[in-house]
Amino acid sequence: MTPPHNPFILADGKKPTCMEMLQLILDGEATAEQQHYFKVHMDKCMPCFKTYSLDATIKELLQDKCCKDVAPAELIEQIKLQISQNQAG
Ligand SMILES: [Zn+2]
Repeated sequence: MTPPHNPFILADGKKPTCMEMLQLILDGEATAEQQHYFKVHMDKCMPCFKTYSLDATIKELLQDKCCKDVAPAELIEQIKLQISQNQAG
């Protein structure tokens, strides 16, 4: 069994961590191939799934509230807290 090709693997053959993959995805710098791979990975990797959906939720909420301004850190912390409370149990 050969593992599926991982488009995140760098030229030097180093396997990226979940955090490094997330960073590319969240920054919008991932290629279509990488995005596809990550979606499959996310189905099996709960930490990635949680971080990804948390970030997507925050971005959505922030777009509702303001378009250009950087959200205050306090607001982001509040949202994170609410989401983590919702996920608990
Ligand atoms: Zn992961």
